[in-house]
Amino acid sequence: MKDENLWSLDVEKTTSSTWKALLSLRGLAAQFIRAKIRNGQRISFWFDHWTPLGPLIHRFGDLGPRELSISISATVSEACTQSGWLLRGARSPAAEELQTYLTSIPLPTLSPKDDYYAWEIEGTELNTFSTRKTWNVVRNREEEKDWTRNIWFKGHVPRQAFTAWIAHQDRLPTRTRLISWGMNISSSCCLCNRVDETRTHLFLQCKINRKFGFWFCGDLGILIARSTLG
Ligand SMILES: [Zn+2]
Repeated sequence: MKDENLWSLDVEKTTSSTWKALLSLRGLAAQFIRAKIRNGQRISFWFDHWTPLGPLIHRFGDLGPRELSISISATVSEACTQSGWLLRGARSPAAEELQTYLTSIPLPTLSPKDDYYAWEIEGTELNTFSTRKTWNVVRNREEEKDWTRNIWFKGHVPRQAFTAWIAHQDRLPTRTRLISWGMNISSSCCLCNRVDETRTHLFLQCKINRKFGFWFCGDLGILIARSTLG
């Protein structure tokens, strides 16, 4: 990266797929990463989220560095001396807001401590990264289905619960679904070979399945019958 900033790197200019994948997640990570200001020597004045205004480059736009006369690559410590901030007089509402905020914090140049970055979730700084808490914030939420507790009950077997969960959402790779994805195979049921193999046929209608009582004809079939047939 040399002197470039992680937040301003152009994803199109990298040839590494790993880097591309990481850079494309910046927007997601940005909502959790907070720059904690102390001596201001590590924190980017324009790109890090170190004030309540968010990353200042977003607040001021590309003309911000010229407006405030602060270099695009400046750290926060480079924007002040021991006697005060080096910002031009406020000429926009954003600049006024920033100046107001800066008067409320200690001058970084006076701090003996190093800056640090924190992972914050809904205003709470975490001591260690939590996948569970982070996932709970970024995931889509829907109303709990009435079959949820039949699958994710205490003591469930993960592999079976996962299959049941997929089946409830009709996402099992049945032959009719495989064909819809472009596979050149027969659509007939793998058990009776008479009608198209769909989730509903396999679990509820297949005569061979009923006759021999395959595993998926048990509780799962009953649960699906409830949710499918009302
Ligand atoms: Zn069948």
